[in-house]
Amino acid sequence: MRPRKRDSVKTWSTPRATESARFIPCALCGGRNFLPDLDCGGFGFVRCSDCGLLQSNPQSDSAEVRARYGERHGEDYLAYELANEAPFLRLQQLALSDAGFDRIEAEARKKAAPSAPKVLDVGCATGALLETLRARGWDCSGVELCGESAAWAREKRCLDVRSLPIEEARYPGGSFDLVHASHLIEHLNEPRSFLRESLRVLKKDGILLLTTPNADGLQARLFGSAWRSAIFDHLYLFSRSTIRALLESEGFGVEKIVTWGGLAAGTAPRPIKALADRAAKRFSFGDVMLILSRARADHSP
Ligand SMILES: [Zn+2]
Repeated sequence: MRPRKRDSVKTWSTPRATESARFIPCALCGGRNFLPDLDCGGFGFVRCSDCGLLQSNPQSDSAEVRARYGERHGEDYLAYELANEAPFLRLQQLALSDAGFDRIEAEARKKAAPSAPKVLDVGCATGALLETLRARGWDCSGVELCGESAAWAREKRCLDVRSLPIEEARYPGGSFDLVHASHLIEHLNEPRSFLRESLRVLKKDGILLLTTPNADGLQARLFGSAWRSAIFDHLYLFSRSTIRALLESEGFGVEKIVTWGGLAAGTAPRPIKALADRAAKRFSFGDVMLILSRARADHSP
């Protein structure tokens, strides 16, 4: 386990020496031409010459990536999730509030009535967010690759959490009002396949909420390879334009992108940081972004 300092919380990243990596076409455009971009010492990110998507390539294969959160490091990962549960939940709630969650919830309730609206949290960890959504009347499901975290969510919170990738969980088509995935998509070998399955399980006009680091943000530009999100576990680093292009090509309509986080704690005096944080949100150069998109009405599950 290799934690790096990150505001009040730490980013978990696993060792890498034994993993095998292979060269793959760009996940966004299928291109095969890349330029070196971030050299992080022992690993790095290249940029697709055609579409600009920043990515780890050659890339560890998906069985290896799964093992990072599952069989090989499950207990470490659960410990990390539990240690950071409160700050992670707070950040997720702030993000949801920025996305206009009350409106999303009211719409989902109306659509699902008389049943409860249904949410699927992908990469739900120990289920802290799902627990708060259940208290608000949502019918909650989760998937979490880390078996130990999924078991925690089931046993301590009585939540329906399966330890599988979404593609293998086989939820019925058109069954969810909302799919939520916080800090997940950048860890996936195949972000397209995750989006395709999210679209399939969403109701017509259902909402997908994604949170991911913003490769266009001020911190990414200032810190380069020392950017706190340029870590080994992130296979893709999306910008507003690359995430939008990916979503649109998979049948989602992007309705809103909000960003937040100007400067990391400790990198500037507090008043400067406060100013930078306000400006980052106002002018969309924040360090993290939330993308609100909708399963297009013409898709048929
Ligand atoms: Zn590309």
